[in-house]
Amino acid sequence: MPPGTYRGRLAPSPTGYLHQGHVQTFWLAQERARAHHGVLVLRDEDLDGSRARAEFATAMIEDLRWFGFDWQEGPDCGGAYGPYQQSQRLPGYRIVFEQLKAKGAIYPCSCTRKDVQQALQAPHIGQEEPPYPGTCRPGRRGDGNLKPGGRINWRFQVPDGATVGFVDGHYRAQSFVAGKDFGDFVVWRSDGLPSYQLAVVVDDHEMAITEVVRGADLLLSTARQLLIYHALGWEPPAFYHCPLVLDAQGNRLAKRHDALSLRTLRQRGESPENIRRSFPPTGS
Ligand code: GLU
Repeated sequence: MPPGTYRGRLAPSPTGYLHQGHVQTFWLAQERARAHHGVLVLRDEDLDGSRARAEFATAMIEDLRWFGFDWQEGPDCGGAYGPYQQSQRLPGYRIVFEQLKAKGAIYPCSCTRKDVQQALQAPHIGQEEPPYPGTCRPGRRGDGNLKPGGRINWRFQVPDGATVGFVDGHYRAQSFVAGKDFGDFVVWRSDGLPSYQLAVVVDDHEMAITEVVRGADLLLSTARQLLIYHALGWEPPAFYHCPLVLDAQGNRLAKRHDALSLRTLRQRGESPENIRRSFPPTGS
């Protein structure tokens, strides 16, 4: 890739304070952008109305700056680059939602969470989200009628049995089977907002991101997102998923475990350099 064409992103959700796991992934994203003499953008993924909070978004930016992050693009924010905010980008998501509708790639679904649970034949132990049983798929629900008065989510209809493969920058060859590893997923929610899967694809495409660096918990989501890229005829970026940071008990760090938040570490007198020294070597 010629110097200057690499575009990466940091895409935190302001649903809690950033912890070591986030900054480890973000640091790698920054290192990769720097190694390619590229550009890094910051995106505030604030669409989760029930959990996203403005105070976390403010804290996030303060913590990122304290830690040594630097991004090279974004809306003007008092002389510095601010983040792109998903909540400010709704009209663009809606256009793409309409495009998917026009292509017949998605369908309306009136199932509640409870309906989905009840329709599943067997327990799906260990699966991040059991595949949707297809109750509202076109042609399935009687003559296509939705539950009267039901709230409508729009789902992407996955090609059952098709393998979705990609070569991850870290984990190498990946392959998932649509309809088995994941099912028809929501792209537009009944509250009038795009789902994470749709918003992230639209943003990465419109922001011309060339490589997505993020946690390994999103490998399966990458398969879903590749189907959206394909349906829209868009070229997907490259993907680089990082191993997740675990605590001493082997549990994934979550924002609600405040112990290792950057704030706490900072209050304890830790320096960014010290925290960075605990990171695995980049490129591994
Ligand atoms: N906003 C997501 C998160 O904080 C990450 C999305 C992504 O990197 O695609 O988990």
